Amino acid sequence: MKKILITGAAGFLGSHLCDRFINEGYHVIGMDNLLTGDKKNIEHLFALKEFEFYYHDVSKFVHVPGDLDYILHFASPASPIDYLKMPIQTMKVGSLGTHNLLGLAKEKKARMLIASTSEVYGDPLVHPQTESYWGNVNPIGPRGVYDEAKRFQEAITMAYNTYHGVETRIIRIFNTYGPRMRVNDGRVLPAFFSQAIRGEGLTVFGDGSQTRSFCYVDDLVEGIYRLLHSDYDQPVNIGNPDEITIMEFAKEVLAMVGNPKAHIIHKDLPTDDPKIRKPDITLAKEVLGWTPKYNRHEGMLKTYEYFKTVVKVPEDA
Ligand code: UDP
Repeated sequence: MKKILITGAAGFLGSHLCDRFINEGYHVIGMDNLLTGDKKNIEHLFALKEFEFYYHDVSKFVHVPGDLDYILHFASPASPIDYLKMPIQTMKVGSLGTHNLLGLAKEKKARMLIASTSEVYGDPLVHPQTESYWGNVNPIGPRGVYDEAKRFQEAITMAYNTYHGVETRIIRIFNTYGPRMRVNDGRVLPAFFSQAIRGEGLTVFGDGSQTRSFCYVDDLVEGIYRLLHSDYDQPVNIGNPDEITIMEFAKEVLAMVGNPKAHIIHKDLPTDDPKIRKPDITLAKEVLGWTPKYNRHEGMLKTYEYFKTVVKVPEDA
């Protein structure tokens, strides 16, 4: 039985990855310090003998007894409001945490995949974003702690690959959504769905003309699975290229939820908020034979079903 360590296991993506690798017959060690993760996301795995949970901060030395075949490094605050609140932890998990895990990968001769991000492209000047684009990042802006930690993460990962011969894989993840996103995580999809369900104003930042391209979580997990098992060690974009403005997206949520009290309000656009974002997934198609299967409507319906069960509606709403 192959053994895999998944960091950030109690988080949104980490927990879906734990499920996938358990289903594929792996022994999964889930690691999390529960800073932004939630044990509820993996509670159903605790009874399984194929699953172990280590409560640990990967910014500190990481020890795993015995053999290890694979490492997936998915620990990090991942929402802009989270990394604004926790700038130092965000930097540490991307830098020190990655260094510790690369050391572990080297020691165990394990293959390691790191969760990089479309944020390495910053507020992009090239559209759609290809892997060959180097990005437009403000290192000292509010998002710099996340963006630069992830850029450092890619750099040290390539250094361990070339200098120590560690087998590494780098995925650049574009906006992803699905069940188990935290209701209050501040990202646009949980914000809009919870506001619409409660009959509140949907907080469109700025005029809503900025764009994003949203990928359903099962598609992303499939891309990760394929990349981990491929021979390709350069960065690969995984995301859904179906681009939409945030204003249009708010309207889609309003139409899906159909709460007559819900409406659109505007708030200030956060500093350095990227104006456009859309992955070029030509490389993922060529190297992994991967394309997303869920369209936005299907993915949003599945996610809406989840949010209906977790969003609390005040009695007087
Ligand atoms: N956004 C918004 N209202 C919200 C939360 C986010 O209009 O309540 C916008 C945000 O300004 C950005 C986009 O939605 O342009 C996506 O934001 P998110 O925080 O989900 O992720 P990002 O892609 O910025 O990392």
